[in-house]
Amino acid sequence: MQNIVNFIKQTFKTNEFIPLHEPRFIGNEKKYLNDCIDSTFVSSVGKYVDTFEKEFAKTVGSKYAIATVNGTAALHISLILANVKTDNEVITQPLTFIATCNAISYIGAKPIFVDVDLDTMGLSPDSLKNFLEQNCEIINNQCVNKTTKKLIKACIPMHTFGHPCRIEEIKNICDIWNITLVEDGAESLGSFYKHKHTGTFGKIGAFSFNGNKIITSGGGGVIVTDDEVLAKRAKHITTTAKIPHPYEYVHDEIAYNYRLPNINAALLVAQLEQLEKFLALKRDLAVKYEEFFTSNKIDFITEPKDSKSNYWLQAVLLEDLKQKDEFLEFTNKNGVMTRPIWKLMNELEMYKDCQKADLKNAKYLEERVVNIPSSVIL
Ligand SMILES: *Cc1c(COP(=O)(O)O)cnc(C)c1O
Repeated sequence: MQNIVNFIKQTFKTNEFIPLHEPRFIGNEKKYLNDCIDSTFVSSVGKYVDTFEKEFAKTVGSKYAIATVNGTAALHISLILANVKTDNEVITQPLTFIATCNAISYIGAKPIFVDVDLDTMGLSPDSLKNFLEQNCEIINNQCVNKTTKKLIKACIPMHTFGHPCRIEEIKNICDIWNITLVEDGAESLGSFYKHKHTGTFGKIGAFSFNGNKIITSGGGGVIVTDDEVLAKRAKHITTTAKIPHPYEYVHDEIAYNYRLPNINAALLVAQLEQLEKFLALKRDLAVKYEEFFTSNKIDFITEPKDSKSNYWLQAVLLEDLKQKDEFLEFTNKNGVMTRPIWKLMNELEMYKDCQKADLKNAKYLEERVVNIPSSVIL
């Protein structure tokens, strides 16, 4: 274990504490922030939100992008756009950050958990197909869960740590079953599946710019879609559903204050300019890690086939629970921050009674996967 700590300290060129993921502000961040402050437009109006939305849409290859206050809000609105209502059901993976399930719960809908693939750590199309065939039927063009008699309206796969899941197959299955595909791309900015950007396969995609993500605005998120009607509706309900008027306050439905402040957008525009550089440096780090861990007989997780990963959070797959615990204990005690993958959603108190498929791959990964320092090294 000491050799692992030594290698990571050498790689990050420091003897001090090494965090899991730090942001890097090495471009126009201060310039744009100053400009934003000088203009006094720090809040709901300003050019940086528009610039960011345009540039982000271009980056991922979607027609529209709508900035939001964080990634959870982006997911919440995405599910509203997907027409998910109270008492509907939404299929997702148990191995994800809590935000995915929170967004489902905000609507009053219930998650159903299907398994992940071992190599992608993302939702498994095989498990999804099995679940639907065994538990569901199409009635009046809608997918009905035969056990609960409820409608399954949406499916949210997540691209774990930036590694794309088998999204094309998932999309085909969702199409057959009339389920709207919403992608949780929070971790996968800069990741592609068969040369198409993650988050753009579904009808709607959501991304996050929380402090630990590949680019950050402190907090922030974005919704992407190719559908003009949905894009307009997303803007409308994230900005209190206010009808444009020179001075009157007229709102035409109950909506949300989920807009991204201009000051956060200013930071984000500068961050987005550096995405290519961050991606290249993360890939360099992954190459170094892979070489080192392979020669030490530890499984380093690399991008799955047919995909290009952003390597947002680097990860190793340890042999068993015991080795995982030893690894976490030793590294954290010795100044190298490491973290286990999430506890499975279906094991949390709020979701323990949700319907689920056989989750053996998710369980296997939960017991073995550990994230290691992943910041961009300058
Ligand atoms: C970060 C993240 C989100 C969104 O988080 P926010 O902190 O609300 O921006 C959603 N899903 C996943 C999988 C995430 O990692």
